[in-house]
Amino acid sequence: MIEIKRSQVLLDNIAAEHLLYYLTKTTKKIDEFLKKRLPKEQRAFLQYIRINLKKILIGRPEELEKIANEIEVHFPTVVAQIRHSKSKAYSLLGKIQTLFNYDAFTKRNAPSKWGAYRLATLLNVNVCVYCNRQYTHTYSSPEKRVRPQFDHFLDKASHPYMAISLYNLIPCCSICNSSLKGTEKFTTKTHLHPYIEGVGERIRFSVRFKTDSLDYMKLWDGNSDVFDIVFKTSRKTPLNFQKRFIRTIRTFKIKELYQFHKDYTAELIVKSQVYNDARIGSLLVDFPQLFQNRDDVLRMITTNYTKVEDLDKRVLAKLTIDIASEFELT
Ligand SMILES: [Zn+2]
Repeated sequence: MIEIKRSQVLLDNIAAEHLLYYLTKTTKKIDEFLKKRLPKEQRAFLQYIRINLKKILIGRPEELEKIANEIEVHFPTVVAQIRHSKSKAYSLLGKIQTLFNYDAFTKRNAPSKWGAYRLATLLNVNVCVYCNRQYTHTYSSPEKRVRPQFDHFLDKASHPYMAISLYNLIPCCSICNSSLKGTEKFTTKTHLHPYIEGVGERIRFSVRFKTDSLDYMKLWDGNSDVFDIVFKTSRKTPLNFQKRFIRTIRTFKIKELYQFHKDYTAELIVKSQVYNDARIGSLLVDFPQLFQNRDDVLRMITTNYTKVEDLDKRVLAKLTIDIASEFELT
């Protein structure tokens, strides 16, 4: 739901490091396989992989999908073998997994060496981009380490040759990756790709009250029967985007899981009543040493970030921005 927005310089540096580590050694491995006797289509497939290796490693999501589609069309036997064979060293799938070894990529723990930890450290995405509910910080010491999981946007069972493709690796939480997405098939035509687009302001969290009169005491009690958390779509949102959004939130159970944040939402609504325009203005005047501008005051009140570009800095930032805006806490 949140776009991974990073500077082109950073993304280019990451891509350069990825290529430096993989391009030559993977090409050599492919050449080793090509020296052996191979069925005609397998040979053609490996040659195709060799020619397109750079794109496979660092191509943008659209390029990766184009390659996946070409492979489907031109190498049907290979595709069938990938889907139905077991991962044995001598099998085609085994060969592909040797070339694009995700397990090895994730095992290189030292933050200085290229691998999942270094990628996570450089990307510095600290909140799950799918749910915005879980932190995904990267920490590494000789004894213990944590990092976000990497979801394979194009699933790696169907596309094992994209197992270490940079733009196919989405940093996210384990709930979204392992518990909810699992092996579900995503494409940029069916789901939102965090490297391409986020929900932004097109679709907002909103509150739908179940009764006509709003009882603030019930809200304050955390009475979850008072309202539901729903989505509001801006009129300009293309239908196509809405469809991708709906499929994405269904996979990650966003609507269902956000109902557990009604207490937080209720507190925001209460704050919107307490901190009216005049009060925010007077806080700004009374504490010039604490607040430089209105956004600083709003951040203190909401205890969250208040700008769309900061959505990946704290959990529930999107919910906070949307509800604060709905209740004119802006
Ligand atoms: Zn998540």
